[in-house]
Amino acid sequence: MRYLSTRDASGDASQQFCDILIGGLAPDGGLYLPQSYPQVDAATLADWRRILNEEGYPALAHAVLTLFIDDIPSDDLRGICERAYTAEKFMTEEIVPVTHLDDRLFIGHLSNGPTAAFKDMAMQLLGELFEYELTRRDSSLAILGATSGDTGSSAIFAMKGRERIHVFMLSPSGRMTPFQQAQMFSVDDPKVVNMAVQGVFDDCQDIVKHVASDLDFKELHRLGAVNSINWARLLAQVVYYVACWLRATEGQPDAETQKVSFSVPTGNFGDVCAGHVARCMGVPIEALVVATNENDVLDEFFRTGVYRVRTNSETQETSSPSMDISKASNFERFVFDLLGRDGARIAELFGGLGTGEGFDLSDDPAFGKARSEYGFLSGASTHADRIATIAAVEKKYGVLVDPHTADALKVAFDVLDAGEVSSPIVVLETALPVKFAQTIVEAVGREPEVPEAFAYLADAERHVMQIPNDAEIVKKVIVETLT
Ligand SMILES: *Cc1c(COP(=O)(O)O)cnc(C)c1O
Repeated sequence: MRYLSTRDASGDASQQFCDILIGGLAPDGGLYLPQSYPQVDAATLADWRRILNEEGYPALAHAVLTLFIDDIPSDDLRGICERAYTAEKFMTEEIVPVTHLDDRLFIGHLSNGPTAAFKDMAMQLLGELFEYELTRRDSSLAILGATSGDTGSSAIFAMKGRERIHVFMLSPSGRMTPFQQAQMFSVDDPKVVNMAVQGVFDDCQDIVKHVASDLDFKELHRLGAVNSINWARLLAQVVYYVACWLRATEGQPDAETQKVSFSVPTGNFGDVCAGHVARCMGVPIEALVVATNENDVLDEFFRTGVYRVRTNSETQETSSPSMDISKASNFERFVFDLLGRDGARIAELFGGLGTGEGFDLSDDPAFGKARSEYGFLSGASTHADRIATIAAVEKKYGVLVDPHTADALKVAFDVLDAGEVSSPIVVLETALPVKFAQTIVEAVGREPEVPEAFAYLADAERHVMQIPNDAEIVKKVIVETLT
C-alpha cells in the first residue's frame, strides 16, 4: 500500500505507512490517503466476524490494519494492536460494545477508554505505533499540542510513560470542564508538561502555530503533533466501524449482506471520514449521517453544496464543545474522493482556504454523489435539542448519553422519522456523560455517575503550569524540559 497527497496533481503515490505516520500534513499542504481503498467481500467479512468473536477486538484491528500497513512485520503489528486495546484500558473485554435500543437503533460505545472519549480509540494505537517506530529509528519526539478538552487528555494518556516521547499541552486556563481539567492535570510524569494559558483555545492554537513555524526550533527539538488529520488516527477508527457493523448484524440471516447506517457527532470530520473509508472498502453501510451542533459548517455543505468556513467570532461555544469548529480539517479527504481524486482541483479549492472563505459545489454534478454514491446525510441540533434528547433517551431506554452523542441521536431520530434510511442506525457514542456533568444536570436534574475508574480524580494532585499568552515562554519551557 502506498499513500498520496490530496493536493498532488501528479497522482504520485510513493510514501509508505511509516513514512507518513509521524508527520502530519503532506509537504504540499494536502492530507494523505491510500492510493486506493482495499476491497472486502462477503468472505472477508465472514472471516472478520469469526476473528472478532473468537479472538477479540485487537485481532480484528490487526486484520483490518494489515490491509493498509505493509512496512511493519505482521507479528509486530499484532503486538501493537494487543497492547493498544486491552480490557484494562477500555473497561470491557469487547472494547467497543454495541447496545441494542430497539429495531431501528443501536449505540456503538467508543468512549470506554482511559479518558472517556472516542479519541482514545485512535490515540492509544498511535501511542504504540509511535513508540515502535521511534525505537526502530532510534529517535525521539516532542509532541506540542493545543486542546480545548478531549484531544489533549487523550493524547497525554496515550503518550505518558513512553521513554522517547515528551508531551507539551496547552489549554485555555479555566475553560475546560472540571472533569477534563482534573483528568489532564492528574498525570504525574516529568515528560508530560501541561501549560494553562491565560486566553482562549484559539490563543493556544496560535502559540502552537507560531512555535512550529520556527523551523530551526522545530527540527532541533524534534517537535511533532498528533492532530486529527493524522492518517493513522483515521485508520484506527476504521476498525470500530467494522466492529459495530459486525455486532449490529450478529445472528441475522445473511448477516454478511445486511446493511446498517451510522449517525456520527461531527466536528473535524475525522470520525465520520473513517466511516467513509470503511464504506468505500465495501463494508455494507447504507448511510453516513453527519450530525453537527450549532456550528453547522458541514450540515450546510451536505444540504446545499456550499462550504463556508466560519470566522473565529462566528464559531459558537456550545454544550457539545468538542464539535465547536470553524472548518473541518479532515473534510478535504472526502472532497478529494467526491471530485474523482483530482489533486489539482483540491489544491485550488483548499489551498487558499483562509478564514471566511470556502467554495460552492452546488452547480457541480459531483455534488449529488455525496448522497447518491457516498451515502451522506446530515442534520444539526441546538442546545435545547440536546437537553430534550438526553432526557427523552434516558426516559425511554434508561440510557444516559453525553451531549455529543445526543447530537447524533437527535439527527438519527429525524432521519428515521423522515424515512431517509431503510437500515437500522448505529449511533456512535463519543464521550461518557461524566465529562459534561453540567449539561447532564440541566437535562435530567442529577449528576452523572462517576465510573469506578475515575473515582480517584476527585482528590488527585494537579500538575499544571499557569502561563501568560506568550509563545516565547512556551519555547523556554520546552527548551528547559528537554535539556
Ligand atoms: C472530537 C470529538 C468529536 C468530534 O469528532 P471529529 O472527528 O472531530 O468529527 C465528537 N465528540 C467528542 C466527545 C469528541 O471528543
